Amino acid sequence: MRTLTETRREIPVVSEADVVVAGGGPGGIPAAIAAARHGAKVVLIERYGFMGGLATAGLVAPILGHTACRSHKPIVEGLLREMTERMHTLGGAPTWAEACQEWGIRFDAETLKVVADRMIKEAGVTLFLHTLVTDAIVTNGEIDAVIIESKSGRQAVAGEVFVDATGDGDVAFRAGAPTQQGRAFDGCVESMGSFMHIGGIADITDEQAAMAKALVLAEMEKGQFRFYNNGFTGRNTIYTDHFSPNMTRWPGDPTDVRDLTAAELGVREQVWDFIQFLRAHAPGFQKAYLRATSTQIGPRESRQVLGDYILTGNDIEQGRKFEDAVARGSWWIDIHCPLGETYPVHLCITECPRQAACPFWAAEHTSSMRAKAELYPPDGDWYDIPYRALTAQEIDNLLVSGRCISATHQGMAGARVMGTCVAIGEAAGLAAAWAVRDGCSPRELDGTKLKTALLG
Ligand SMILES: Cc1cc2nc3c(=O)[nH]c(=O)nc-3n(C[C@H](O)[C@H](O)[C@H](O)COP(=O)(O)OP(=O)(O)OC[C@H]3O[C@@H](n4cnc5c(N)ncnc54)[C@H](O)[C@@H]3O)c2cc1C
Repeated sequence: MRTLTETRREIPVVSEADVVVAGGGPGGIPAAIAAARHGAKVVLIERYGFMGGLATAGLVAPILGHTACRSHKPIVEGLLREMTERMHTLGGAPTWAEACQEWGIRFDAETLKVVADRMIKEAGVTLFLHTLVTDAIVTNGEIDAVIIESKSGRQAVAGEVFVDATGDGDVAFRAGAPTQQGRAFDGCVESMGSFMHIGGIADITDEQAAMAKALVLAEMEKGQFRFYNNGFTGRNTIYTDHFSPNMTRWPGDPTDVRDLTAAELGVREQVWDFIQFLRAHAPGFQKAYLRATSTQIGPRESRQVLGDYILTGNDIEQGRKFEDAVARGSWWIDIHCPLGETYPVHLCITECPRQAACPFWAAEHTSSMRAKAELYPPDGDWYDIPYRALTAQEIDNLLVSGRCISATHQGMAGARVMGTCVAIGEAAGLAAAWAVRDGCSPRELDGTKLKTALLG
């Protein structure tokens, strides 16, 4: 590849903070709020014009991981409960008690946007929207500042402790912290996917919906639509006047802009073919329309920042507990086919219908694949997220939050859901504030004290 040398220029430091949080998604919002509520001067940097990450930009719903495995017992409360209750007062989520009776917290993305705005403002966090973190300036294993790019130009935000909540480990990667990605033997990550909202469905009867699903399934069996399920009549948000399915799938590396571009274009075409098909062939669906697609294709997995502990699939299956637990997860090892195979393929498990035809199946690493029965934490139980999975190796003042914490391909397949990301974020924010208060690196904090403060 041809290379060019950039002329180095002076970069203005636009803000100096105690704690700098990069990324305003489920892992970043709580980190910023928690750090600010514990006395730190906080800057939160977000590339879009709103916060929420995949919960808003990805239309992903519901929020999973708030209760123990196959149980209604809450395992995450704190800021997740507060956010849910604040959304409820605006009509955008059920009550907390109702949400705990359901498998996920249904919510409205627009309500989450304004709740996040208000909570961030009330906490006194300085927010930079429309701002991309593009680099990090590192001296002797510590980040001095992150470089940001916005309409204001190239600037720097300096800080004492940095929290990487970009989902993709962008800060860690730019700072030179070690990261790993995907399956141990080939680096393939879970397939990407997206949500859509389908409107014009008010008059559709249950019989028409069932018939439409059967028609779509028949097309999928012919290889017509590259979906992994035909459950498009599901309602994952709080409002019932539209369907909000999660059925698309696209393979690739979410840290490769060519793969991201192919995924956006490919999924958009699929979705439009599907809507046209419904209108033309499904009785009752003539008025169906595409009300919204997600702002971005959703990466399920990309870079995992290597920490002082790496969460594994065994930790999930055994419901492992840790002395330095700072959050709890209950979602299972939910690996969407990394090759992007669609119906009848769903998960990467030994029961996969492709079996011998799958290059992974034929490979010597098949033994690392799990059976359906080996994916879940024990019923009524959870696994802990240890604090050491948040402390980045080699960069002393960097904490990681959300889906890019230190985990294997199997470990992150459970810990990636939004309820768990919010819990991790709250922990990262508290730890960052404590490190600033105590004048130490996050790694030097006592994880058992964090555990007591966060989980009792
Ligand atoms: C198809 C699909 C279905 C899913 N289904 C569910 C589900 O039903 N329930 C559930 O709970 N979870 C689900 N998930 C998982 C969940 O959505 C994510 O794992 C979760 O949102 C991760 O939170 P995060 O904050 O770590 O990252 P993100 O949600 O990706 O948020 C990262 C934020 O950082 C910002 N950002 C990124 N890079 C930069 C940068 N360089 N500079 C500035 N800002 C930056 C982004 O704009 C974004 O706001 C699903 C994911 C996918 C892809």
